[in-house]
Amino acid sequence: MVPTMGALHAGHRALIERAVAENDRVVVTIFVNPAQFGPREDFARYPRTLDADLGLLGDVGVHAAFVPSVEAMYPPGLVTRLDISGPLGERLEGASRPGHFNGVALVVTKLLVAGLPDRAYFGQKDAQQCAVVRRLARDLDTGVEIVVCPTVRDTDGLAISSRNLYLSPEERMRALAIPSGLAEAMAQFDAGERDSSALATTVRSCLENKGLDVDYVAVVKADTFSEVETAAPTNQIVLAARIGNTRLIDVVRLGVDTAPVGRGV
Ligand code: AMP
Repeated sequence: MVPTMGALHAGHRALIERAVAENDRVVVTIFVNPAQFGPREDFARYPRTLDADLGLLGDVGVHAAFVPSVEAMYPPGLVTRLDISGPLGERLEGASRPGHFNGVALVVTKLLVAGLPDRAYFGQKDAQQCAVVRRLARDLDTGVEIVVCPTVRDTDGLAISSRNLYLSPEERMRALAIPSGLAEAMAQFDAGERDSSALATTVRSCLENKGLDVDYVAVVKADTFSEVETAAPTNQIVLAARIGNTRLIDVVRLGVDTAPVGRGV
């Protein structure tokens, strides 16, 4: 199973192609999940491109698409909630988007129960979501193997996202501060810098120099999302920042990923 919110792009395609290569039968789910959007977020204007999405799924040989309505997923009278507690659910993305991961957890659990897949595929770009889903798959004894796939980037280094469609050409240029800031911090780490706040400051300065409004930059453990003072290989630099009305997130794995773009680009 490959859960998505549609508006499929090359990032989704990579997950789907890998799932098709590794499994006998693949179902892609397309559902813009209201439960994971806050009241002032972009649920209403989130891009919806179902015809093009279904065309892509046909091209890559997916066996089924599951495109439920909101009413089918959340019938009247539903009272069951899931709560992702502790730093994993409540820090960073969880702090900026209260209730977000509870909404993600509920929909992912319902999709896993509906499809009973052997494996489910998620993108590293949404790193905290991956950690939440890994944890819930284990906590709820689902037996589903969670496969995390590398972030797909445009040639200039920007992580591909459905929300990139919101950016004006000028904002799209300034957004390159994200991959270049991360690349700079990775280069510092490779040169021996282990102080997390120094690495975070490097990224933050890069973003602020281009007028991005930084929500957070942090160095975290991949599984718990607790912040570390001393950075080590496999720790992740995670960030969220706003450009105009668009909020973007990104992540690199220290000592694992190659830099998203050359330094100073
Ligand atoms: P979304 O439709 O944004 O909810 O994304 C559906 C799945 O695709 C999630 O597991 C995302 O992490 C993954 N995904 C989105 N963008 C990318 C990308 N650029 N590279 C890899 N995976 C991605």
